[in-house]
Amino acid sequence: MKQQKRMLRVLAENRGFNPKVLKTLGKRLKVGIIDADLLDHGTRHPNLALEKIAGYCKSLGHEVRLICDYNELDIQLPFFPDSCDYDVLCLAQVFKFTKRPKEIDFLIKNHFIFYGGTGFLAEFDDDVKQLPNLPHEVEHHQPDYTLYDEYIQKQTGGDPKLIKRRFDDYVSYSIGFTTRGCIRQCAFCVNRELKKVVPWSPVSEFMDPKRPRIYLWDDNIMAAPAKVFKKVMEDLQATGKPFQFRQGMDIRLMTEEKAKLFAGVKYYGDYIFAFDHYRKDDAHEWKQVEQTIRGLEIWKKYVTKETKLYVLVAFDGLDYQDIEGAFWRIKILMEYGCLPYIMRFEDYKKSQYKILYTQLARWCNQPSFFKKMSFRQFCIRNEEYHQGIQQPIKNGKFSSRLKFPKGFTPKPTFCACYRAMIEFEEEHPEIAKKYYDLRFEDLKDTFKNRKL
Ligand code: SF4
Repeated sequence: MKQQKRMLRVLAENRGFNPKVLKTLGKRLKVGIIDADLLDHGTRHPNLALEKIAGYCKSLGHEVRLICDYNELDIQLPFFPDSCDYDVLCLAQVFKFTKRPKEIDFLIKNHFIFYGGTGFLAEFDDDVKQLPNLPHEVEHHQPDYTLYDEYIQKQTGGDPKLIKRRFDDYVSYSIGFTTRGCIRQCAFCVNRELKKVVPWSPVSEFMDPKRPRIYLWDDNIMAAPAKVFKKVMEDLQATGKPFQFRQGMDIRLMTEEKAKLFAGVKYYGDYIFAFDHYRKDDAHEWKQVEQTIRGLEIWKKYVTKETKLYVLVAFDGLDYQDIEGAFWRIKILMEYGCLPYIMRFEDYKKSQYKILYTQLARWCNQPSFFKKMSFRQFCIRNEEYHQGIQQPIKNGKFSSRLKFPKGFTPKPTFCACYRAMIEFEEEHPEIAKKYYDLRFEDLKDTFKNRKL
């Protein structure tokens, strides 16, 4: 126990993950790993930093375990660390909205625990610069992809279908950064440390040959120097495994060469880019729009596979112009045969159009709806469901009018979706007229006739 207390006191002097401590104590340590996002609300992705820490600790001979429930820790304040069963605790948090128990906050504030991750940036603004990155030897250690196995087993009982549905990202992929850094420095982005793109990890560093696919977290692969970009694509292709980049890629930097390279690789799933800008009253913003469209033009020459673009909303404003900016981008994407994916900046909750933003996301982010229905049809379909009626679909097309069968007494209130649509239409009929009835099927691949 004495050893343990000393250990924790040493750790207290080291903010962030410190490999020296783990190397020098000369004892097999019990390392507890906490994925705060997972324990609060579950996450789709494993935490790569924690997997690297686990891999590193195991390589030193330490015992590593993912904490599957905070209750396991049995933190009895103020007797911690005497009451703790672990020698070292490491916690990572990606999302700032993730909630932690107050006992864990006590451990963090008193540095009884290694902690890090982008989730802490907003919380300790003054400390941002002090939140350390993983040390080189940990950052470049092969991730321990078995870290979450016990948790997954507990959650699914080992049912392969459940595992596939809920934890595919945990079990089927090798994960890494082939490059890091970004030239853009967007105001809403946490990746602003490295102002240019540099090679980061060779694929062999993080690839597990037993895993069927690879995904990459590169901040902005499109901004990599041409030689680096080519090498990364060749290395990924050489693995023979399908791969995908998970961050919305920067289509403004598309070139003929990059599009050709992308067209020739074994890409898994949809290509995903970003379409963040729309404002015409700002020369810099408008330049971004022009570059996005130029990128789409090049892309469509070489790639026929499904392509999605993140459409950031509620960042440049929360008013009707932001809604119009979203519709305007959606229309352009329809013309290019691309699918929008609405990304709501968290401030959308403060907008008077909060519900409309949500309905836009529900419509666009479910391609089965988006490909078949205009926004108006989607809202009508929702209202029909709310009323318990279904209009017939004629020639594969949904009706654009809400009609009630004869003798039917409608409910006195509309559903939130339909109500948000008609309220906005009453306020801004000219915007509704322009966009509400556009259908992906009708506009798809008409971009040659499109005027900005
Ligand atoms: S382009 Fe992407 S990675 Fe780069 S700063 Fe902007 S949001 Fe972040």
